Amino acid sequence: MSFFRSARPYIIAGPCGAENREQVLTVAAALSGMNVQLLRAGVWKPRTRPGSFEGHGEAALQWLQEAKQRYNIPITTEVADPAHVELALKYGIDVLWIGARTTVNPFQVQHIADALRGVDIPVMVKNPVNPDVALWEGAIERLEKVGIKDIAAIHRGFSGYTAANGYRNQPNWPVPIELKRRRPALPVFCDPSHITGDRARIAEVSQKALDMHFDGLMIETHPTPDAALSDAAQQITPAQLATILAGLIVRDEHT
Ligand code: PEP
Ligand code: MN
Repeated sequence: MSFFRSARPYIIAGPCGAENREQVLTVAAALSGMNVQLLRAGVWKPRTRPGSFEGHGEAALQWLQEAKQRYNIPITTEVADPAHVELALKYGIDVLWIGARTTVNPFQVQHIADALRGVDIPVMVKNPVNPDVALWEGAIERLEKVGIKDIAAIHRGFSGYTAANGYRNQPNWPVPIELKRRRPALPVFCDPSHITGDRARIAEVSQKALDMHFDGLMIETHPTPDAALSDAAQQITPAQLATILAGLIVRDEHT
């Protein structure tokens, strides 16, 4: 059975970025006591402009590994090149994810795929920043071709010039729905944090995704969201996450 089918909905939570050891351990302690399957934290952050917080790299991998060992929760981080893959594997990262700015670039996805040849690890593929379902599926195919068996997709919305409906990234739901139609066996998760960019709207978009039979959710969770070094406006506390999860209505399996 797929790693990603151990719960429904499958919940991935944790901060946008691993900022320091205490932050990672604090959030891991809270989430490990909840119905959360996978702890996320970026250690290499793809920022739009230079000069912003870009992550702590290898040092942060050690904090994640410590959190995994202490709290017995699997961990995931974003990888954007073969050097990231090598270090993530060295520090026991359980699941890799490919970010939207990487999925958009077939050369880069192929470099990552080549680094994963012969490696048995689950990988999550976020949609490209533009609403191109073939490009998204192509990234998945590149991983399949090197032997990655356990793959999930994450819908995090699409960039636009205007913030229509107030969303940070347009959901453009027909795009992930088409991916699900093409690949009924592929777990597809929704990332309401990056779609909305607004913590007040995470519950609403999470429920909408479940109503559309998405298989899980990735929700950015931080001990002190307003002080976050990246994506502060969309992060929520573990307590707020617990409230949102408790309020979700999970309807029947696919019809
Ligand atoms: C993230 O998950 O923090 C991130 C950078 O995501 P995306 O690739 O969806 O922008
Ligand atoms: Mn983020």
